[in-house]
Order: sequence, then structure tokens, then C-alpha cells
Amino acid sequence: MKILLIEDNPGDARLVREMLREGPTDFTLHSARNLESGLRFLAARDSAINVVLLDLGLPDSRGLETLATLRRHARDLPVVVMTSLDDEEQAIHAVRQGAEDYLVKGQVDGRLLRRCLLYAIERKRLTESMEKARQSVAESEERYRLIVDTAGEGIWVTSPDTRTVLVNQRMADMLGHSVEEMKGKSFFDFVAREQVPALREKQKDRMRGISEQYELQIRRKDGSLLWVMVSGSPLFDPENQYIGQLGMLTDISERKRIEEIKDEFIGMVSHELKTPLTVVMGCLYTLLSNKLAPEDRRQMLDDAIFGAESLSDILENLLELSRSQAQRMVLEKHTTAIGHVASEVVERLRSKSAIHRLVTDIPDDLSPVEIDRVRVGRLLTNLVDNAIKYSPDGGEIKIRARQDNGNLTVAVIDHGIGISKENQAKIFDRFQRLSKSGESGIPGIGLGLHVCRLLVQAHGGRIWVESEPGSGSTFYFTLPVRSEPASNR
Ligand code: ADP
Repeated sequence: MKILLIEDNPGDARLVREMLREGPTDFTLHSARNLESGLRFLAARDSAINVVLLDLGLPDSRGLETLATLRRHARDLPVVVMTSLDDEEQAIHAVRQGAEDYLVKGQVDGRLLRRCLLYAIERKRLTESMEKARQSVAESEERYRLIVDTAGEGIWVTSPDTRTVLVNQRMADMLGHSVEEMKGKSFFDFVAREQVPALREKQKDRMRGISEQYELQIRRKDGSLLWVMVSGSPLFDPENQYIGQLGMLTDISERKRIEEIKDEFIGMVSHELKTPLTVVMGCLYTLLSNKLAPEDRRQMLDDAIFGAESLSDILENLLELSRSQAQRMVLEKHTTAIGHVASEVVERLRSKSAIHRLVTDIPDDLSPVEIDRVRVGRLLTNLVDNAIKYSPDGGEIKIRARQDNGNLTVAVIDHGIGISKENQAKIFDRFQRLSKSGESGIPGIGLGLHVCRLLVQAHGGRIWVESEPGSGSTFYFTLPVRSEPASNR
């Protein structure tokens, strides 16, 4: 054990040396007669010294300043202060300022001195290792806090009586509250009222030690509800006492929204398929009865074909959508005159309505286009079909085509209900209908225009609408033109 004694009085120094000689522990004493030489000694071999025995009244430094200077130079060394009888108060101050202990000169015997030095060393070692442990706890706490705070999921720890003990920022953000606002509140304060009874049952399960995953609707600060997936686990202390639960919450509102859209879509498509199918089946059953006059049979067959074509149109649009989503839309392009495709569409749809007049305005000398004839036929069918559906008072519907700047521009013009500016931006999106078929009586699944846009884009063209509510709409699309003359296909 190496001791540095800083003491100017040779008599006191001798006394200390003698007292240390007794006893079982092997003490090696180095001494310095003033602070400066003490510090020099420490600077040269500080690691070897275990404890400093310091007289506060030295020739080059007096009082607490002596301790302060020493500690500035050797922060981690334990120091025992030596003081005279009339300065005990100062010694107590020294201990407050970091000295391990103090001794009053003249009241020290060998045993006390040795014990005091050994304790000082031991106490310093203990405080240091406690400080290290505290630091490592603080560091690991900081690490966990970081993990909890940066987690993508909401983390929520509650006490046995459901009060919030810990929530991370993500959880607070999900609910629109601050972390502070949530602390101490019961999680029942944050769920939709109708979920409370079911949640009470789940609380009982947690207390029984059961973990579970379930969907829950929580109430945000602004009153809106949010669907979350909760993974709830009970927490027990080492004595197996229930101390609350840990919930990991994931926002599943987007998934729920998609599920709702899917459900709505399935309902809508089934309804729209059922109507023409009922017509087809009704016609076929009536035809089976064989008691019809020839002209009625003809009418029945026409109606059945009409119904089947409607079904086929819906299914074709659905198929185009699914092909495009699977990146499997492959065009079969041929050099084609747009006039032929338009005439075929007009022929097919003319029988759909007696009150509409379908006409084409397409010059014969237009350059041919390199297109998938079937797909452009479907595109025109969708547009003309809409023109019929959304012109309830009848009137003329025209397919017009013009060529300019290397493009063919085709227009489908109606004089129907028209579309407001604001809605014009939406109608090319999937499943967008401006009025539900239930309200307007006009059938449809909101897919026709979306498929038109997919087909036009696949051909390298673009599609848009110009319209005035109440006076009709014109849908335009462009197709790139080839330079040779039109073929007769
Ligand atoms: P659907 O006709 O099956 O509803 P579409 O995608 O073909 O679906 O059309 C989307 C919406 O755009 C329609 O529901 C309708 O509100 C509006 N729309 C389409 N074409 C016209 C038109 N020619 N005139 C007025 N509104 C139209």
C-alpha cells in the first residue's frame, strides 16, 4: 500500500511514519514537505500511490484551497485530510468537498491511522465501482429508451390497474396526444366505447398470464377512431407478481381501408353482374317454353345477347385491370384504319338505345395507326357506352377523328349531363363513380374510364375530357400515327 504524505512539519511526519510501521499491513510511505513537491511526485508516479495523507496548512497553500488544488491534479486518488484540533470544522468541509476522511493531529494512534487509510482506499474503490455500475445502467437505459423511442410500433406499458406507465413517441403520435398527456391515464380512456367490455375480458386474460394478438379501435385526441393490431403480453416480477402489461400496437387502418374497399367492390361487381345475368337467364327460360311467336323469339334472343354482351363488357374491363396490375398487358398491334374500328363499335352499340343517334365523322384519307384493334375497340365501346348512359335524354353521339402533328386525335362527343371541372380530375381513377347506381339508376362499376386510360397509355397516347355540366362531354384520346396510307383491314 503506497501512501503519499504531504506534511511540512518533520515531527508530525516522523510520527506518521512510526505509526504506520506497526500493524500487519505493509505501508510504504513517501513524503513531500509542500504541495508543489507533492504534486510533482504524483505527476511522476501517481498511479502507484493508493492514498494521500494531506495536511491542509502547508507553506505554499492553506486551508481548503490545498485540497481543491490536489483534487484538480489527482481527481481519482482518495485523500485523507490531517488537521489541527482547532480546525475540525474545516476538516468537515474538506470531507464534503470530496476528501474520504479526516484525522485530527494529536488524536491519532497507529490503529486509527491505518484503519482510516485502508477504509479511505476501500471507500474510494467502492464509490468508483458504484459510479461505473450507475453509468452502465444509465447507458443501457439510454439504449433501451432509444430502441423504444425509435420503434416503428407503438409501445405501451401499463400498471395492474391499467394506468399508463410508459408510452413511446410513436404510440403518442398514433393517438395525437403527447407522451406526457398519456402518462398515468388508463388505457380504457383511449379506446372506442363499444370496445370496453371486450377489452375488460382481455385484461383478465393478461392477469392470468395469457398473451394475445387482437384488432382494436382506439380513439384519437380529435375523436377519430383508428384501427390497430395489438400484441399484448402480461408482465410479472421475479416473485411472479403481475405488474401490468406490455402492448405493441401497429396502425392497420390502411389495411382495414383496403379490406373495406374490397368488400364494397365485391358487393358492387356482384350486383352489376347479377342484373344482366338475370336478363339472360329470364330470356333463355322463356325461349325454352317454346310457346313464342317467331318475332317474340327474335326479341328474346336479342335481349339475351344484349345481356350477355353487357356481362362480357364488365368482365373484359376487369380482366384488363388485372392484366395491367400484373404487368401482363400485351398489345397485339396491326396497321389499322381507325374508321373501321369506330364503325364496328357504332354497329354493335346502335341497338342499345333507340333514343340516341350514333354517328361517325372520320375522313377517309387519315393515316393508318399501329394499334391493338380489339383494345381500341374496347376503349371506344367504353366511351360510347358512357355517352349513352350519361345522356338520359338521348341525342346525337359522335365519334370524330382528326390528324395533326403526327397524332391521331379521336373524340367521343355527347350532349348529356356533363361533368364538373372538379370531378373531371377524378373520373379516370379506379372505381370512381360520381353517383352510385342505386341513386342514379345508371349501372356501372366505375372501371370503364380507368381501363380507357390504361389502354391509351399502353398505346403511347393520352386521354382527357372537356365538359360543361348540363351541356355534354367530349372525351379525347390520341394515338401515334404511321406514315404509310391506311390499309383496308
Ligand atoms: P361507370 O360508368 O361504370 O360508372 P366509368 O369509369 O366509365 O364508370 O365512368 C366513371 C364516372 O364518370 C361515371 O360513374 C360517371 O359519373 C362519369 N362519366 C363517365 N362518362 C361520362 C359522360 N359521358 N358524361 C357524364 N359523366 C360521365
